[in-house]
Amino acid sequence: MEQLIDPFGRRVKDLRISITDRCNFRCTYCMPQEGMEWLPRDELLTYEEQARVARVCVEHFGFEAIRITGGEPTLRAHLPRLIGMLAPLGVDIAMTTNGVKLAEMAHDLAAAGLRRINVSLDSLRRETFLRLTRRDDLDRVLIGIDAALDAGLHPVKVNCVVIRGVNDDEIVDLAAFGRDKGVGVRFIEFMPLDAEGSWTMDQVVPSQEILERVDAVYPIEPIVHGAEPATRYRYRDGIGDVGVIASVTEPFCESCDRVRVTAEGKFRTCLFALEEFDLRHILRDGDDDDVLSREIERAVGTKWAGHRIGQVTFVRPSRSMSQIGG
Ligand code: SAM
Ligand code: SF4
Repeated sequence: MEQLIDPFGRRVKDLRISITDRCNFRCTYCMPQEGMEWLPRDELLTYEEQARVARVCVEHFGFEAIRITGGEPTLRAHLPRLIGMLAPLGVDIAMTTNGVKLAEMAHDLAAAGLRRINVSLDSLRRETFLRLTRRDDLDRVLIGIDAALDAGLHPVKVNCVVIRGVNDDEIVDLAAFGRDKGVGVRFIEFMPLDAEGSWTMDQVVPSQEILERVDAVYPIEPIVHGAEPATRYRYRDGIGDVGVIASVTEPFCESCDRVRVTAEGKFRTCLFALEEFDLRHILRDGDDDDVLSREIERAVGTKWAGHRIGQVTFVRPSRSMSQIGG
């Protein structure tokens, strides 16, 4: 089996598949309030097509992890069917979700072979949650997190995008929530992928500041600084862990092992990539797996050293996070 090595010597082995561009939320940092046009149904890759891309990545290139994302992945009908198609690949299968439908789906997803899950939760206050997501669904998300734990998904993690002046006063509360529930909180720096283009650097709360605020109340120590983008810390009292994803202030590009496929089958080598490779026509033209794997190889050959947020050469991708798949 070949390994997929990019021009900067990084081994690519983590595939993120966005299975839909639709969402039942409208998070301010991700989507506009209105005016999103969803892809027509026949433009979305089918589960068979998504599973084929995943299989080729695993069988031809030894990929080790697959994450299902979106838009909101739980909006795709019969999602456990897709998980059941991916499970036999024997790699780490994970999903990122807003959690709203987990109460009804967590057990079926776990039974189908989902191993772990990240649930997005940016606030524990109803007003702030509503302001950020434009949906009054905090309680459903909290119940969804409980359902994921109850279903045996492990680990359950919480993703929290921190925005200065909006929810940064809740960092310690969210850390406490994670400790109480036994879920690891991952604080994510706000990235310039909001659909409205209103991102500014002063809204970013640097990871270092986030960690200092947590440490002041619940002392922490670093666990490991490996390929994982979330720099992880354990609480010194032994009650769980916490992480930061410092995509803006301390990019982890030099250890990036990820590629992405959008809901309509565009292959992307970086969240911020400006170039996309259309896999759908290969999937639908009757081409064989070798053609597909060669196109994936060709795309990986264009992977950048890293994004350029904060530099004059930075160009915002035309897609928002919900269309790329976070
Ligand atoms: N709908 C699912 C959810 O919200 O978890 C999956 C898709 S969402 C695009 C994936 C992740 O991207 C979420 O954890 C979300 O918080 C994060 N995200 C979205 N926009 C972001 C931004 N501008 N900066 C940082 N993270 C962002
Ligand atoms: Fe939807 Fe997730 Fe984007 Fe929020 S972050 S709008 S839940 S895709």
